[in-house]
Amino acid sequence: MYLLILIFTLFAAIPTWAVELYGAWQQGGYIYGQAEAGAQVTINGKKAITAEDGRFLYGLDRHFKAEAVVQIKNAEKTFERTLIIEPRSYKTQHIKGVSSNKVNPNTKELERIRAEKAAITKARKTLSTANFPIKMAYPVSAPLSGVYGSRRTFNGQERSWHKGADLAAPSGTPVVSPASGKVIFADETFFSGNIVIVDHGFGLFGHFAHLKDITVRVGEEVDTKTILGHVGSTGRSTGPHLHWGLYFQNVAVDPLLWLQ
Ligand SMILES: [Zn+2]
Repeated sequence: MYLLILIFTLFAAIPTWAVELYGAWQQGGYIYGQAEAGAQVTINGKKAITAEDGRFLYGLDRHFKAEAVVQIKNAEKTFERTLIIEPRSYKTQHIKGVSSNKVNPNTKELERIRAEKAAITKARKTLSTANFPIKMAYPVSAPLSGVYGSRRTFNGQERSWHKGADLAAPSGTPVVSPASGKVIFADETFFSGNIVIVDHGFGLFGHFAHLKDITVRVGEEVDTKTILGHVGSTGRSTGPHLHWGLYFQNVAVDPLLWLQ
């Protein structure tokens, strides 16, 4: 409802410009819109992913500061609008019973972790504007057991904040792609276990982690009927669940804000 009011206000405010702004304007959220074809779009001076037809997308990180200055330029004119980005508060989740090497990996495991992180970061440099990923469905239907942004401790030791949503589905539940796209990574990794990464387009990448198995291959086109794999508990996990992560380029955003 709040979003609708914002959109309505925006339309009323800029009747002369063919620029439309939408999204979830909060930390972990996103801004998307339609500018004129060929326009350049920046948010606080950083480039949004923009297609030739003027559609664009930008992800807002967990710590995003209060204001997002959206600037859209074409040959003749500049449009600028400041959006207020709502702050969020994050809780701490304490996770116990984690294998000790998944909390304090040894030297060899640290090397493996670094290599996997580099490979995933590289995969997320893929740029495609074939799909515009503004609507997503749940990849599994299950209760939430972990939310985006929370600080976390493993066996009492503080580790990185949670970059996704955990859905506590039983082991073996099929995981369906929440939107169409292309598989850019599918492998077994140290922390994420069996993971599939889907390029949904416009710099947005879905992560599906801790899978029991993987049923797609790198390069495969997927849609909302494609089973990517099945829920499991591989990697740093204490029980069957799907970790659903969503990244705008290499910035983790909240997947639940994409559900319509
Ligand atoms: Zn998770």
